[in-house]
Amino acid sequence: MPIQPLLDAGTAAANMAEIKPPYTPQEALIEANRCLFCFDAPCIMACPTGIDIPSFIKKIANGNLTGSARTILTSNVLGASCARVCPTEVLCEGACVVLDLEGDPVKIGRLQRHATDHVYENGIEVLHAPAEKNGRSVAVLGAGPAGLGCAAELAQLGYGVTVFDKKPEGGGLNTYGIAYYKMRPEISIEEVRMIGRLGVEFRYDTAVGRDISVADLERDFDALFLGLGLGGANRLGIPGEDLPEVVDALDFIEWIRTRPLQDVPVGRRVAVLGCGNTAIDAVTQSKRLGADTSTIIYRRGEEDMPAYHFEYDLAKADGAGFLFHTIPLEVLGENGHVKALRLAKTEVRDGKVSVVPGSEWIEPFDLILKAVGQEKQTELFTSLFPGLKLDRKGRVEHDPATMQTSLPKLFVGGDCANGGREVVNAVAEGRKAARGIHAMLGGGSVSGPVQPSRHGASDGAVGSGFNNPIRVPELLAAMSK
Ligand code: SF4
Repeated sequence: MPIQPLLDAGTAAANMAEIKPPYTPQEALIEANRCLFCFDAPCIMACPTGIDIPSFIKKIANGNLTGSARTILTSNVLGASCARVCPTEVLCEGACVVLDLEGDPVKIGRLQRHATDHVYENGIEVLHAPAEKNGRSVAVLGAGPAGLGCAAELAQLGYGVTVFDKKPEGGGLNTYGIAYYKMRPEISIEEVRMIGRLGVEFRYDTAVGRDISVADLERDFDALFLGLGLGGANRLGIPGEDLPEVVDALDFIEWIRTRPLQDVPVGRRVAVLGCGNTAIDAVTQSKRLGADTSTIIYRRGEEDMPAYHFEYDLAKADGAGFLFHTIPLEVLGENGHVKALRLAKTEVRDGKVSVVPGSEWIEPFDLILKAVGQEKQTELFTSLFPGLKLDRKGRVEHDPATMQTSLPKLFVGGDCANGGREVVNAVAEGRKAARGIHAMLGGGSVSGPVQPSRHGASDGAVGSGFNNPIRVPELLAAMSK
């Protein structure tokens, strides 16, 4: 049977409500005053973008939310989305000294959200590009977190920046690939618009190599930034994989983010293959959209799973099932639709997984979500950029200090450089690449925030804010093109 939506609009919306709602002003004040404002604060060291965390928390404690947001956004232009999607438990909050003292860290992520929401909701611009551009221009390939980090930094350094992306909207994973209950897509879209107001031009529905050639880009721009991330899900390589209800988990998450929640089809019995953080996002959301059962199937043991433990706890709380030491051998179909998986138990010896002979069984499922990692885009990159060096894992080789690749005019950042890390790593690499480009083009080195200091400045209501109800329909209309 084809899969169908299972819930009415009200139930779906309630089930997908944010798991970390915003602080009230009083809650934020109380939380900010738990901070010890450490000298040489370990939380700063743990943040890939190096946000001055005690400084922004101090400003919240003093009631200066605009100044707090400025401190955040000058280091991390995607501070609003990172406040929601960063694994703070293992980054800044994991390093917080209050965690050792009280067993509960300062909630840095939620405070960061409190400050950044203030400027978006009130249309306050805290970042500015110079009125006069410097006459140089850069093409940014990919409007995901790395591309946006690079573009925003370059714009503030005075460059003309054009971002190309094959999707109808920017934001990359933040717009299309994050669990809905962590962040709504309009948060990411609003961040992209803020970067647009820095003077960055966005050309959507434009794939490099298809709609515009690299030769044209090299002719028209002084430097290029490659931030195209990873490709589609790895193939399983088992019979039945091409049945229609075998779906890339990231595609399933994109359905959730680009359609009304009550229109998202989901199976009654869902299998999620893999056990990373994308698998957790898929299993929890399928349960929240009405699946009777949703089960992670992982060929290794619980102790080996790559998902963060707090994500694992969330999935268990949502009623997800787990089949460890289990491998799919075949997707079984009936009348052209998924009916079941043929599974087998595994054992791990010397790190290698093998099937236990005679352990096979059949388990009924009607939706199979693949979360077994994404392909590297090695063929695309080497065809677009002949001579570009890749490492043995398919990542683009680069100078870690500048993000410059083996091709002098081409810089790189994000998943295609690091193989797949967090959003915040991609933003940091994009920013670093922007500074590498600036140095390569003779602009010299830049350290610390490049943002001109405009303490207390507010330029009025140019942003539309997170709560503008027109944005979701706009997004949906754009995506249905
Ligand atoms: Fe505040 Fe914790 Fe950072 Fe210290 S480590 S400055 S207490 S958030």
